[in-house]
Amino acid sequence: MKVLIAEDDLTSRTLLKTVLTSWGFEVVAVADGEDAWKLLSGDQSPQLAILDWMMPGLDGLEVCRRVRALDSPHPPYLILLTARGGKQDVVTGLEGGASDYLGKPFDRDELRARLLVGQRFAELNEKLHQTQRTLEKQAQTDVLTGIKNRRAILERLEEELARAERQGTPLSIGLLDVDHFKHTNDKFGHAAGDFVLRWLVMQVTTAMRPYDGFGRFGGEEFLIIIPGADPERTRDVLERVRLAVAGSPAETEGQPIEVTVSIGGATSWGGSVDELIRAADDALYEAKAKGRNRVQMDVRAE
Ligand code: GH3
Ligand code: MG
Ligand code: MG
Ligand code: MG
Repeated sequence: MKVLIAEDDLTSRTLLKTVLTSWGFEVVAVADGEDAWKLLSGDQSPQLAILDWMMPGLDGLEVCRRVRALDSPHPPYLILLTARGGKQDVVTGLEGGASDYLGKPFDRDELRARLLVGQRFAELNEKLHQTQRTLEKQAQTDVLTGIKNRRAILERLEEELARAERQGTPLSIGLLDVDHFKHTNDKFGHAAGDFVLRWLVMQVTTAMRPYDGFGRFGGEEFLIIIPGADPERTRDVLERVRLAVAGSPAETEGQPIEVTVSIGGATSWGGSVDELIRAADDALYEAKAKGRNRVQMDVRAE
């Protein structure tokens, strides 16, 4: 594990570095608080640090305070090292954000024991952080297709709509629904239906730009977000999406399955997410009524 040592005294710093290295730690040693702060506030922050309290410029306690103020979801374990051993000093150090406190000159056994506590804490913390990230990702992902789920794509739409309003640019969406999907399920089975949905996601993804949004809205319905596109551009993009699906059949177990989609498109120049979705939904309804396998733009955009 990587450990940061911040100590202005050369002898003490060298000794610490030698001892920690001999214990198998990967050591980064710096001579002042500024450098320690730079590392601890960076992307690749060490998860364990020994900070001398008394250093010129930024002292160890101030580094602790700053690190805590970052309020990172993944904070490092900070051991404050100092000759000041009075009770009040200990309290000040711990209240300032130190995780632990070690008197100077340090006792090797004690240092090692406290480092191991810190290492355990840091490792546990890292695991917890990873689990949290995995859960967050899962909570936003549609299990069947791997793209954003309804909640996540709606969140993205909220963000994009707010951005569009700030920048005075249009924001367009497409609501896509698979045509006669009930029939596909009935004829080929539910598993083949699932396959078709995954295949469709691949087809649509290749037809879109990386910064467009795409999520499963529910069932066999998908939402496409096209930032910056006016109605004309939107129609072109959605038409490309439609053709990417209808252009060739999905094929599972040697069985070709014809798939088509109807898409309702709408452009917002202000207004709420609900209004925009309702407009796209109305257009989708119209696309279905007109015979399916087509893109219909919201009338307000014509
Ligand atoms: P339309 O062209 O009017 O949209 O007809 P449709 O048959 O697609 O519409 P309907 O709403 O009647 O049926 C949708 C079907 O989609 C019914 C449902 O079982 C199926 N479906 C929804 N989610 C899934 C899924 O995750 N997997 C599979 N295989 N089928 C699904
Ligand atoms: Mg010092
Ligand atoms: Mg539907
Ligand atoms: Mg359908």
